[in-house]
Amino acid sequence: MEYRERLIVKPGSSVKLADIDPGFHGRHETHEKATPELEETLAKIAPLQELLYAEKKHALLVVLQGIDAAGKDGVCWHVIRAMNPQGTTVTGFKQPTAEERAHDFLWRVHKHVPGLGQAAVFNRSHYEDVLVVRVHNLAPKKVWETRYDAINEFERQLSESGVTILKFFLYISKEEQLKRFKVRLDDPARHWKISDSDYSERELWGDYTKAYEAMLERCSTSHAPWYVLPSNHKWFRNLAASQIILETLQNMKLKAPKPSVDIDVIRQKYLKAAEDG
Ligand code: AMP
Ligand code: MG
Repeated sequence: MEYRERLIVKPGSSVKLADIDPGFHGRHETHEKATPELEETLAKIAPLQELLYAEKKHALLVVLQGIDAAGKDGVCWHVIRAMNPQGTTVTGFKQPTAEERAHDFLWRVHKHVPGLGQAAVFNRSHYEDVLVVRVHNLAPKKVWETRYDAINEFERQLSESGVTILKFFLYISKEEQLKRFKVRLDDPARHWKISDSDYSERELWGDYTKAYEAMLERCSTSHAPWYVLPSNHKWFRNLAASQIILETLQNMKLKAPKPSVDIDVIRQKYLKAAEDG
């Protein structure tokens, strides 16, 4: 549980990504050394998510943001796999369709918010509307400027209706991104992940950094905090994400609901039926 306090963006604090080390990896030195702890953590998440599902008093929303190749898909694969698919949804947000563009920016997001008992992961999210939209001037400044407050209000309402929100910003260095792009180029099985825009967006690294810093500063709130996960080491990113998810579930003090039937009566009835053949 050691990383939560260290990685949270304290509400109201200013954020300079240059002051954060994306290569930070906590107390483990290697993937192999970190793996047992990751597996233990994931094993503890599973039964708690089952209680979340059974109790239906809380919902969990995990928001993933990060530059291309930061590891958003990787977190879905390596961390969210701990959860029962029956109670979990993963939604990726791409460029808005014509129908989505015809609505307010939260419209397409709202319908994927988890209901009580559910966990949901957003692979990209409403934050694209203050990230890619800001960097590329897809909307005028006076439009995206108002969205920070709109997002805070939206998330506050969700949290008041029982949704616990965790937001993970996966932070990699520019060099690490290039390394990952090269791995993709060298591996035909990963070619499908490559797009032209990966390289053109890279040239906007500085603009993205400013947009990420604004997002982290303006939208880390007590009800929906941002965490900056140093992600150059995939195994540290996975361990930190899973620890924070586990601690969040533990803090919910989840309880299985009381049975809706009298178990003793049922037991008697079926035992008797079994005895009677
Ligand atoms: P990927 O997640 O790599 O499949 O790429 C999805 C693409 O959709 C990224 O380039 C995002 O920046 C883009 N995208 C997601 N949401 C929006 C949005 N609201 N407006 C414009 N582009 C978006
Ligand atoms: Mg991509």
